[in-house]
Amino acid sequence: MYKPDHVKTSPDFPIPDTMRAWVLGDPDQLTLTTKPVPVPKRAEVLVRIDAVAICATDLEIIHHGPPAMIQGGQPFNKNFTPGHEYMGTVAALGPGVDEYKIGERVTVEIHAGCGQCKRCREGMYTACHNYGLNYGDVDKGHRANGFTTDGGFAEYAVNSINTLVRVSDDMSDEEATLVVTAGTAMYGLTELGGLVAGESVVVTGPGPIGLLGVAVAKALGAQPVILTGTRDNRLQIGRELGADYVINAKNEDPVAAVRRLNGGKGVDYVIECSGAPDAINEAARMVNRGGRICLAAFPGKPAEVDIAYLVRNNIYVYGIRGEGKSATHRAEAFMAQKRFDATKVHTHTFALEDLPTALRYARERIEDAIKVVVKTHGHAATNRVAAE
Ligand SMILES: [Zn+2]
Ligand SMILES: [Zn+2]
Repeated sequence: MYKPDHVKTSPDFPIPDTMRAWVLGDPDQLTLTTKPVPVPKRAEVLVRIDAVAICATDLEIIHHGPPAMIQGGQPFNKNFTPGHEYMGTVAALGPGVDEYKIGERVTVEIHAGCGQCKRCREGMYTACHNYGLNYGDVDKGHRANGFTTDGGFAEYAVNSINTLVRVSDDMSDEEATLVVTAGTAMYGLTELGGLVAGESVVVTGPGPIGLLGVAVAKALGAQPVILTGTRDNRLQIGRELGADYVINAKNEDPVAAVRRLNGGKGVDYVIECSGAPDAINEAARMVNRGGRICLAAFPGKPAEVDIAYLVRNNIYVYGIRGEGKSATHRAEAFMAQKRFDATKVHTHTFALEDLPTALRYARERIEDAIKVVVKTHGHAATNRVAAE
């Protein structure tokens, strides 16, 4: 039985010595194997993973490698377990941990950062200057589970207490996996200025972050919130999450439509979640003079940018990465207060052993999949479509 030195466990919560975990071999090669249950150190806990959502970044990592970085390089064939949007139950406490109790339900942020660099000290731990440095002679203690340390496609993971967010009992496991997604949208709005009530916001791209960006902007009091995209079913979900207007870019020019809806002036903020090649130039023409653009998606290729337009119009452009400045806590607060129903973006659930199928659903958007969740614990091995 699992009983490492200086780690607090509970007889009510027995932990095996080994666990099932998916590991990444060559690109696109995942194998379900057995690993030792990891051991938390100071300021860390062991989390029993109950559910993990699949993110587009997981698909990137499994196929290409970056932004995952293990021991300074590609994540392939290093016994690395991907997966980063998970939630679970605190199962064991590292030395000195009294901030959490065994049995508490938590969801996680991805980035613990090193805690000691300039950016970590500013709360920008997703932009840690010691990214990936957690091995050998360059061990700065950086952790980003599923990116630079083992992640959530497994039964257990170690987390820094700084990455934990308590979740209320009436929030389902599936919904709790979406806290970090809503937290990313919240971080974007925080970086754009934070005070959103009464300001106008466009969200471009109705993926999970874009859709929850609509919900968070609305919860913060933005007026109006406009969502642009090309899939009517997703735009409809955007409406249900609070968008005042939706624009299908297949049917009308989104820049002209945005300006028309704002008396010809454009909006205060654009949150760009599409990653389309011309998205930044379109966003620049959607904001008013002095407006702000938050880039939250990764285009596949370098984009050509009309910089003169940005300069002439005093437009601010922000790149955000992930979920800094404890934005997940603010997002969870909205979700716990039922300010929006994040489960509208959750479409499918699979069991841990069906991860390859779950990844295929997410990648190929089978049955209009948006957020696909894998249940690790207490879930029958039968697939089912989420009951809406
Ligand atoms: Zn993600
Ligand atoms: Zn750092």
